Amino acid sequence: PATQRYAVVTGANKGIGFEICRQLVSEGIMVILTARNEKRGIAAQERLKEFGLSANVVFHQLDVLDPASIASLVEFIKAKYGRLDILVNNAGISGIKIVGDTLILQEIIKGDVASVFDGGKPESVKLKASGTITETLEDAEECLRTNYYGAKSVTEALIPLLQLSDSPRIVNVSSALGNLRANDWPTQLAAYKVSKAALSAYTRIMARKYPSFCINCVCPGFAGTDITYNLGPLSASEAAESPVKLALLPDGGPSGFYFYRKEISSF
Ligand code: NDP
Repeated sequence: PATQRYAVVTGANKGIGFEICRQLVSEGIMVILTARNEKRGIAAQERLKEFGLSANVVFHQLDVLDPASIASLVEFIKAKYGRLDILVNNAGISGIKIVGDTLILQEIIKGDVASVFDGGKPESVKLKASGTITETLEDAEECLRTNYYGAKSVTEALIPLLQLSDSPRIVNVSSALGNLRANDWPTQLAAYKVSKAALSAYTRIMARKYPSFCINCVCPGFAGTDITYNLGPLSASEAAESPVKLALLPDGGPSGFYFYRKEISSF
């Protein structure tokens, strides 16, 4: 149909990205589910079939760190659909590793659980994770490259196809942890927080540069996925609701804002 909308979701083989795909497909959007690993991506596409949602989803490989992979996705969309309506930059990594099992996570982060994963509610944290947090320079660099530069590269490559849409939408999945004014200069998860602060700032800049787009960023809330070692109280599906809402904003909707879940917030 002429009104069919096309969406790309990055990092969609699991977690919040997978749920964003599921919800967008349920809304009748044609979803290009992307993942850096082809096997994991195809398996995710198969899982969507279990929901009876196979018709409106295609898999395409996308590693946001790989320019050739980004270029290949652009060519695929150009040839197959001729334009893009929705881009959800969801792919992300934490930039830390937890090794060993001797310490309780909360002790390592000195009771400051809220500023580590949540940005607000220490009581909501299930203390399941254990081990020692390591944050190497290599991990920090990869985190910034993935969460910020990766999203930026994908966005810039897809802008020409989004400009062919009547209602282009970009959703950047950011984090309340990127609110450096509220959180102060980070000592834990430093690269992650800086990457999300940069992503939120980039959102504002792009919204100004492309006034006919709706470009927003959102903290989806604290969810139990692999990136949080399953510590978050929300399900991936609950967390996906706010990015999906922003992906489906009506014309004239807000642009250049940071949302905490479904509410406009400051960052
Ligand atoms: P997951 O760890 O479950 O999912 C992360 C996804 O990103 C995976 O699909 C992963 O792929 C993918 N990814 C990582 N690196 C790349 C890359 N180079 N190219 C393409 N894909 C990549 O975490 P969530 O679902 O929770 O996280 C989704 C987003 O939500 C992230 O941006 C995260 O920062 C953000 N967020 C999450 C919160 C939470 O509480 N869960 C809170 C605030 C923000 P692979 O499987 O191959 O590793």
